[in-house]
Amino acid sequence: MGGDREKMRIRELTRTERAKIRKLVTESCANYGSREKQCIPLDCPCYMLDKCWTGSLCRYFQEAVLGADPALESALTGEDSSMRQKKCPVCGKAYLPVTSQAYCSAACRTYARRKSERERKRRERLERGN
Ligand SMILES: [Zn+2]
Repeated sequence: MGGDREKMRIRELTRTERAKIRKLVTESCANYGSREKQCIPLDCPCYMLDKCWTGSLCRYFQEAVLGADPALESALTGEDSSMRQKKCPVCGKAYLPVTSQAYCSAACRTYARRKSERERKRRERLERGN
């Protein structure tokens, strides 16, 4: 028995997984041309749409598209992105932080900053009132 631990066993994709991949590609991949029905930068059919097995994924898909479905991501890559996922304290949406960001979007960050400023001012007013 070799002590080699396979990183990720290659297996056939399930119907559900293929359907999810198709949905992600056609709806979320910025490189997929819905009119051309293919990958625009590669100028050929989308690699992910033809895929029947796990294993190497389209890099762009893996980095920019797959994160939208953490369950599928961990099924395909063995990486559990829900560990990296954060919940936005403003809108409650789950997101994958790119930097050490605390909110899902700039809008939520601005909202949170304004809110804390309002609260600080209110506190100051209360303290002065006492
Ligand atoms: Zn948010």
